[in-house]
Amino acid sequence: MYIEKKVSDPAISTNFHKIRQIRFLTESTFILRFDRGNMQFKAGQHIISGLKGELNQREYSVYSGESDDYLEILVREVIEGNVSVRLKHCKPGQLLQVNGPFGSFGLEPFDVFSRKLVFIASGTGIAPFHSLVSTYPGINYTLIHGVRYNKEAYERNYYDPDRYILCTSQESNGGHKGRVTGFLPGYVVDPDMLFYMCGNNNMIYEVYHILRDKGIPEENIFPEVYF
Ligand SMILES: Cc1cc2nc3c(=O)[nH]c(=O)nc-3n(C[C@H](O)[C@H](O)[C@H](O)COP(=O)(O)OP(=O)(O)OC[C@H]3O[C@@H](n4cnc5c(N)ncnc54)[C@H](O)[C@@H]3O)c2cc1C
Repeated sequence: MYIEKKVSDPAISTNFHKIRQIRFLTESTFILRFDRGNMQFKAGQHIISGLKGELNQREYSVYSGESDDYLEILVREVIEGNVSVRLKHCKPGQLLQVNGPFGSFGLEPFDVFSRKLVFIASGTGIAPFHSLVSTYPGINYTLIHGVRYNKEAYERNYYDPDRYILCTSQESNGGHKGRVTGFLPGYVVDPDMLFYMCGNNNMIYEVYHILRDKGIPEENIFPEVYF
């Protein structure tokens, strides 16, 4: 079920979408699938959501692809947080309030297939990259995903194993043991690559400086800060 609600600013649509599925990837991280309705978005954009009737709403990157006939978001429960805890306990059939889409994080049409793309994510910051890879299966990307534990390599089998690099800070994974910021200094780059970063502010700030020190021009670096 999908219910359209009129709002005063016609540029922003607020709608209620029926939750269809909640799929746990770990005990605290889950994918919410809900009806798409008529929402159009560009891979990389986010929505503002929360349960219908609740005051608190938060930003969530769209996890699903542009052509999917449903919408998905990837959410990690923040202990003592307001919205993520409520979403964790929602049930199929409940209504989700959805505003959006918002944001300009994503690929320019002329870059999609012509550039080498490096996606750098911490935790659930992998969400917009899942949407991009799903939307553009032929893109030339490398995804560097920083997590604490191996189990947080959310749906890693979805990605081409030759394009996916896992960095785990709290245990060994057979790949890089340590943070993304420990891996990147040894990573060979060329100034023509485009770098997209998504996740927590500290990671983004540190990665930005590592890339600048490696000679990557500022205009080739694109951040999306979650918190
Ligand atoms: C553009 C954008 C896109 C986002 N996309 C996603 C997404 O796809 N998936 C997702 O899970 N979150 C995403 N977030 C974060 C999300 O909007 C909420 O901040 C998060 O779900 C916590 O909300 P809350 O109400 O549960 O906690 P709150 O009550 O708002 O916050 C409690 C505290 O937790 C901190 N915090 C917020 N997020 C995290 C986190 N992930 N880990 C640790 N501490 C945190 C906050 O800074 C705050 O101090 C995004 C944020 C932005 C700005």
